[in-house]
Amino acid sequence: MRTLRSEELFERAQKVIPGGVNSPVRAMRAVGRDPLFIDSASGAELVDVDGNRFIDYVCSWGPLIAGHAHPDVVEAVTAAAARGTSYGAPTQAEVELAEQVVSRVPSAEMVRLVNSGTEATMTALRLARAATGRDRVLKFSGAYHGHVDGLLADAGSGLATQGIPASPGVTRGQAADTLVCAWNDRDGFTKFMDASGDELAAVIAEPLPANMGIVPPAVGFLELLRERCEDCGALLIFDEVISGFRVSSGGMQTLAGVKPDLTVLGKVLGGGLPLAAVAGPAASMERLAPAGETYQAGTLSGNPLATAAGLATLGLLTQDAYAGLEATTTKLVTGLKEAADDAGVPIRLASECGLLTVFFSDDAVESYEGARASDGDAFACFHGSMLEQGIYLPPSQFEAWFPSLAHDEEQIERTIAAAARAFEAVAA
Ligand SMILES: *Cc1c(COP(=O)(O)O)cnc(C)c1O
Repeated sequence: MRTLRSEELFERAQKVIPGGVNSPVRAMRAVGRDPLFIDSASGAELVDVDGNRFIDYVCSWGPLIAGHAHPDVVEAVTAAAARGTSYGAPTQAEVELAEQVVSRVPSAEMVRLVNSGTEATMTALRLARAATGRDRVLKFSGAYHGHVDGLLADAGSGLATQGIPASPGVTRGQAADTLVCAWNDRDGFTKFMDASGDELAAVIAEPLPANMGIVPPAVGFLELLRERCEDCGALLIFDEVISGFRVSSGGMQTLAGVKPDLTVLGKVLGGGLPLAAVAGPAASMERLAPAGETYQAGTLSGNPLATAAGLATLGLLTQDAYAGLEATTTKLVTGLKEAADDAGVPIRLASECGLLTVFFSDDAVESYEGARASDGDAFACFHGSMLEQGIYLPPSQFEAWFPSLAHDEEQIERTIAAAARAFEAVAA
């Protein structure tokens, strides 16, 4: 694998962009290497600036469920661009996209479109605080909700009564308003809600956590969140920025049969362009200006190119498409497990339709603590071997792989064959 042009670009980038990247995980530091600069992509494949080809399982970290440069998406975006890139006035496509969200997502009656998942969680918190008149929010350790100041707080080990800023620059006030509980810890959560539940504006959770690797909810855990929020008068916010439109047409809330008060959506919804949303019942959503007094706005919100990409992508997401994606995921998971077993490498696989994580661990992974106990060196070795063999994986043990509708059987088989060699490298 030649990386000359990538090396040269990375050198230039580091002089003018902090760390050389515009989002930290792209830097590939966790696997001890420098990033590859991408030149183009099509279907399930990426081509870097040195002409190396890869089967891509990052897929822009989730938006590209249809694969790169899907002809329908490219055509929709191109046609939209020719009619003007932004008006600062309403369009038909915004209405159609909101209608799509309402028809697919059980808890959604109204939708506000924004530009990023971060903005959407920020808006959901503001709505919850406006609705309850309370300031504090409970999140779960290992969950990611964008780089919203308050939500960067993470005590890292179970319940915290006082948030500690995980990032310099987060005010003490914001940190103190954020409480953290361990994921899947029924007792810890129950105790917290018994003691302080009535101080909470909201409990925010990824109903299928995917930012510490995939760590599914234990049986009954989402139901417990629903019940205790109801009891305490706190809103339950599901952050489905990854799981929305991916694990099923209606997201994780459909699979689990648990309805949140507010839902945060992004990634797939924008089909690879900057777009996200907060959705919920009309009574909550009409608190937003100009219907209500809770302020929220955006120069480029509901941008015509982004809504065109979103509508084209959702148009591809039929029940048959989900059945296909599920089959692809299962084939990949089964093959990876066999390959690891053959090489004698202990792994734990977690997956849902269109998502999977390979934890290099002997033990079941049910929490952030469990995820962090997995073997990062083994992962780095595996990642390096896969990259050498033309398979582009997320460069972190704590991120999910994103198979797409574009990954075909031959590419899945090639991936499994490469993984067999990579697991052998790990075992050696
Ligand atoms: C990616 C992500 C976000 C943040 O979305 P951005 O568009 O990157 O701001 C929020 N929540 C979850 C669960 C995510 O995976």
